[in-house]
Amino acid sequence: MRFRQGIRRIVAPNPGPMTYHGTNSWLVDWHGGTVVIDPGSEDETHLAAILREAGDALSHILLTHTHSDHLSGAMTLHRRTGVPVAGYHTSAEPSFTPTLKLSDGDRIAGLTVVHTPGHAMDHLCFEAPDSLLFSGDHVMGWSTSVVPPHPWGDLSLFVANLEKVRDRGDAVILSAHGPAITQPRALIQNLLDHRHAREASIAALLKATPQPFETLLARAYLNLRPDLLLPARANLLAHLEKLESEGRAAHHDQHWRSLG
Ligand SMILES: [Zn+2]
Repeated sequence: MRFRQGIRRIVAPNPGPMTYHGTNSWLVDWHGGTVVIDPGSEDETHLAAILREAGDALSHILLTHTHSDHLSGAMTLHRRTGVPVAGYHTSAEPSFTPTLKLSDGDRIAGLTVVHTPGHAMDHLCFEAPDSLLFSGDHVMGWSTSVVPPHPWGDLSLFVANLEKVRDRGDAVILSAHGPAITQPRALIQNLLDHRHAREASIAALLKATPQPFETLLARAYLNLRPDLLLPARANLLAHLEKLESEGRAAHHDQHWRSLG
């Protein structure tokens, strides 16, 4: 799908509860060729489609972060083409080191790097000309992002970086899953409101006497679908860690209590 002059989208065939229809792979033309942002999974037909679209012009593989639905396709494409993979200088995936190590504010292939840790500690957004931002999994058009607990994620940073991206005032955001976001400010404010409401409800579950994590999980997520159990556990723990970092909660072993 051609989204805007010089920007095309190919959706990877890896649909699921965490990926929506699949990972969006974005092809972006610049004067030195074409970059692909997030080649997605290593599905053969998907990688073939990327290579067919980009052809010999493929100059860089850009990674918003190193979760497997982004990294696996990048590594396969890199091995096959020799095209460099650019990602955050400190990879969160121990088995992977980017060929080109990026930092906040760097310029690469006509794009500006914006470090946005939270969903993953190595998460990057890429700013394109004309008020357009590629947001990876940091801001998505179909759902809230899962924020894992430490050391994989950080909910306090995630919230701060949502506010940062909200206040940038981009006209359009293109994410790694879901449709284009044409009202970024309103959508991000909704995401923030959702987080704050979730935090308030979790804070309200805590008592002065310690409760097991599993009890809190059952109370926080009623009638949870089995395939969402893992992300729910991660999200709850991330919220508890945020409350603890703010001096509002404390834990001993797997038991949490309120300090409020
Ligand atoms: Zn991710």
